[in-house]
Amino acid sequence: MSGSSPSGASSASGTRKIWKRKTTKEFEELKGKLRKRQRQNLKDFKGRSTILLTKYPKQHMAITAADDHNASWRGGTIDPFCPSRHRLFSLELATTGKRTFFSCSISDFWKMYMNAAPKHRHHYEIIRAGFPCRLYFDCEFYKEFNPALDVRADGTRMVSELIRLAATSLQMLFGIMVTREAFLVLDSSTHKKCSFHIIVHLPKNQLFKTNIHVGKFVRWLAESCRPPCSPGGPAAALPRFSNLWVNGRKEKKEFFADEAVYTKNRAFRLLYSSKFGKVQTLLPSMTLNKFKFDNFTEPGEYQLFLDALICASLSIEEELGSTVVVDQPSLIVCDHILGARGLSHANHRATVHRPVSLAATGSVAASRVASDFNSWTTTHRSHRVVLENIMEYLTLARNIIIPTGAISRRVGDEKTYVIATRSKDCKIARRRHRSNHIWFVVDMGLRTLVQHCHDEDCRRSHYAMAVPGEIFQSLPADKKEAVGGQALQVGRKVETEKNN
Ligand SMILES: [Zn+2]
Repeated sequence: MSGSSPSGASSASGTRKIWKRKTTKEFEELKGKLRKRQRQNLKDFKGRSTILLTKYPKQHMAITAADDHNASWRGGTIDPFCPSRHRLFSLELATTGKRTFFSCSISDFWKMYMNAAPKHRHHYEIIRAGFPCRLYFDCEFYKEFNPALDVRADGTRMVSELIRLAATSLQMLFGIMVTREAFLVLDSSTHKKCSFHIIVHLPKNQLFKTNIHVGKFVRWLAESCRPPCSPGGPAAALPRFSNLWVNGRKEKKEFFADEAVYTKNRAFRLLYSSKFGKVQTLLPSMTLNKFKFDNFTEPGEYQLFLDALICASLSIEEELGSTVVVDQPSLIVCDHILGARGLSHANHRATVHRPVSLAATGSVAASRVASDFNSWTTTHRSHRVVLENIMEYLTLARNIIIPTGAISRRVGDEKTYVIATRSKDCKIARRRHRSNHIWFVVDMGLRTLVQHCHDEDCRRSHYAMAVPGEIFQSLPADKKEAVGGQALQVGRKVETEKNN
């Protein structure tokens, strides 16, 4: 730094003294500068690491604060993905349920959250009433009430089963294809209790309109596999998932995914948090996830936190990037949902089995399947079960994409149904077509599923699919006779007599 060259103006006698004083002055200046810089660094550091968030003793106060902030932001932009948008979080203060509330941006919350000691993280996301959200499940059972079940092994199996049931049903009801990678599984199980959160990332940022609609969908899932109340009672639409029903408190059967968590302004525990007074933290499952995540780096941890939120958010890249362009997600609506069980069951569960209309906005078209099903079932209840079985078989076992409203009935023929698809893998041509799609005919009389094709060369042929016998099991026994000598040669390309 600066040399201590004595000034020419200083007298010889006082050189030492002046020199000393001068050095001290420079030194003090330097020291002062350094201190100032240190203080600034510390301030910056504190500013980065400890964010002081306003705490609200009541939820409604935090809601007002968030709404005021969001309304004033950028002249009232209500883009749900705006990173500056305020979200609602809460912190559990006691086992009595006492909470304090925060209204802040996700990134501010994250800074505060990471600064809190892990054992003091008892934080929740508030799933705000009326806001779009992801499909989510809160899965649990108690060992105490289910002594025959193993928390680890059976819990793992049931999560996988629930994922399959959800994927099948998303396809059946909304025509939405999801893969196993779309399901983020968080685990906070103990030896006493199996406990998982599952958060689903639907393609193209699709969200449910509110968590009330998610609740209707989950209740549909539950009903679709509810075990019959009495032996010989009507079977559910997807009976092979019936072991997703477990024993709850008060000796009642309960669905593995808690149906009670879809209420207004629901508090849902956050990733890395434990319940107040408990040590078990909610963490990503290391065995059940095909969902891609990296929680070994700081950005990876934050990304996972974002992915685990129920009210969806941008990814880190989108949040940091200068150009934030996010397609407005299409919202899924379940106003009245298709009865998942036979109509004869409606007598004592009348409210669940209202007329069906499944409507959705955006790319998810209103489901004609559902309303068609409903009108048919008045005369052909058993047909519906068969059609649902076939949808499940085609989508799950054969990976065939069936859009909503794909099923229609042949005019003047009460026993034959046509299923359109978006798939091009043709059994007749034994290859994938470039543009033409395949389609199916279900014959309830013959109990057959036959593939047809729109391709010019395939039009005159058809292919009888070898389907599991259970698919047609719900049909009345007398129809079986109708097969007679007309049995199709299954698994073979056959020339049809008439042109299609
Ligand atoms: Zn073909």
